[in-house]
Amino acid sequence: MTEFFLRSHDTMSDASPENEFLMLIVSSPSGAGKTTLCSRLRAEFPDLKFSVSYTTRPPRPTEVDGREYHFVDEDTFRTMISQDAFAEWACVHGRYYGTSRDAIASARQHGGGILFDIDYQGARQLKASYPEVVGVFILPPSLQELERRLRGRGTEDEATTLRRLANAKGEIGHYVFFDYVVVNDDIDQAYGRLRSIWYAEKSRRVRHATGCEKLLAESASAPDSPNDAQED
Ligand code: ADP
Ligand code: 5GP
Repeated sequence: MTEFFLRSHDTMSDASPENEFLMLIVSSPSGAGKTTLCSRLRAEFPDLKFSVSYTTRPPRPTEVDGREYHFVDEDTFRTMISQDAFAEWACVHGRYYGTSRDAIASARQHGGGILFDIDYQGARQLKASYPEVVGVFILPPSLQELERRLRGRGTEDEATTLRRLANAKGEIGHYVFFDYVVVNDDIDQAYGRLRSIWYAEKSRRVRHATGCEKLLAESASAPDSPNDAQED
């Protein structure tokens, strides 16, 4: 019965450390709360490495080069495009943003997972290259609340704020690219849902095939016990 189960579910081919690695995208319209939610997730799960993107937008006062983003000029960004350095890149709210292939490769070496805070265009590109990637779309409870949060954050000038709010409607229309939607009304409840997604995705059979195969190998080499479990 066990053998039948294994073959019929093709578990053997799942048994690769590669499959244990989780690629998690969190996207949202600007101001919906994805940075806040991602920070909590990163603090709770240190084996989830954050993909530090490259951007041509200027740093905000609290941002540090190499921590929130690698801040580069447009020439550098274009050179990186021509060198195929990006796994995905896009123009978002009039600035360039991109995920470097190096960020993914280095996170893979550590195992665990990688967290991408990227827009729907990037999510679409990553999904095309890595079908196993998991996408979460964060929504505000209303557009009015989105505006209140964006203005309350106080990081954008008026023109940029208006541009981001105008773009929000178009962005929300791309929810269909994502596997999960989390409405960020109450922050603790929204975080609870995001955390549940992390646990559920980390618990997928495919991510445990290596461990299961090890246990099976151990039990195959162990001496038979008189009380062997019955196979039915
Ligand atoms: P994003 O990264 O999606 O642009 P942020 O995480 O920067 O959004 O959040 C925008 C603002 O809204 C921040 O000032 C943040 O503290 C606030 N915020 C986030 N989630 C909530 C929430 N559930 N209720 C009220 N304010 C929130
Ligand atoms: P912000 O300027 O507020 O940090 O980010 C603006 C938007 O750009 C957000 O939607 C954010 O998710 C997105 N973004 C950040 N980094 C990347 C990236 O590497 N690629 C893409 N496609 N979008 C990104």
